[in-house]
Amino acid sequence: MTAEYMVDVRRIHKSFGALTVLDGVDLQVRRGEVTVLLGPSGSGKSTLLRLINHLERADRGFISVGGELMGYRRAGDRLHELKEREILKQRTRIGFVFQNFNLFGHLTVLENVVEAPISAQRRPRGEVETEARELLARVGLEDKVSEYPRRLSGGQQQRVAIARALALAPDVLLFDEPTSALDPELVGEVLAVIRDLARAGTTMVVVTHELGFAREVADTVVFLDEGRVVEQGPPAEVLDNPRHARTRAFVDKVL
Ligand code: ADP
Ligand code: MG
Repeated sequence: MTAEYMVDVRRIHKSFGALTVLDGVDLQVRRGEVTVLLGPSGSGKSTLLRLINHLERADRGFISVGGELMGYRRAGDRLHELKEREILKQRTRIGFVFQNFNLFGHLTVLENVVEAPISAQRRPRGEVETEARELLARVGLEDKVSEYPRRLSGGQQQRVAIARALALAPDVLLFDEPTSALDPELVGEVLAVIRDLARAGTTMVVVTHELGFAREVADTVVFLDEGRVVEQGPPAEVLDNPRHARTRAFVDKVL
């Protein structure tokens, strides 16, 4: 792959009615790097992740993942929008982990993990199940494959959600506040899994208020406020020595 950036967001604008939520946002993530996205509630973090994953549609701007323009095809110097089916296929290249896990409650842990590779990627069940068991072992849940989500703790459910996202072998994993719905004693086990993924070179964008985690794992921290990137850089700069008053105020409040 020749693309410089695994995720490349250019001048994205998004409004809901009269409310401008993203006002010309750029975001570049290199292959194998971790970007932590910070910002106050309502600053547009979830909307940005949802745009990357085609859960929302941008008003202006472009997004590419792995060098491929998301939602569009280039024909000469013109862009053509993709059909829904093609967009669904592109979406399988992006793993998304939600705040509230979003597991399928009527499916077992193993069935949750194998569902998308079988139905969206049309891969053979046997091979997918073998991989799914390996992924569940990687997140420490090899003994829970036959359980239903409601019988698991929040931390275990979130680890299933991470295994499910990994099962598509995505180019990038997006996390939207993956630990904010968890009891405090369960936060660590989920962050540990994300930390292991970072060490293994997984490209990730993580929205989180866990600044200790950001300091340790992020290559780049991006601070978003009122739909704009206010400041970005290595954690040692943005978190420990912010240049902007708004970043400083946010970091002081979260700490
Ligand atoms: P964050 O994740 O940073 O808290 P969001 O991206 O969820 O922020 O939301 C940014 C703003 O956009 C908020 O004011 C929110 O109410 C608004 N918003 C988000 N989604 C929608 C929607 N589907 N319709 C209308 N307003 C929305
Ligand atoms: Mg949000």
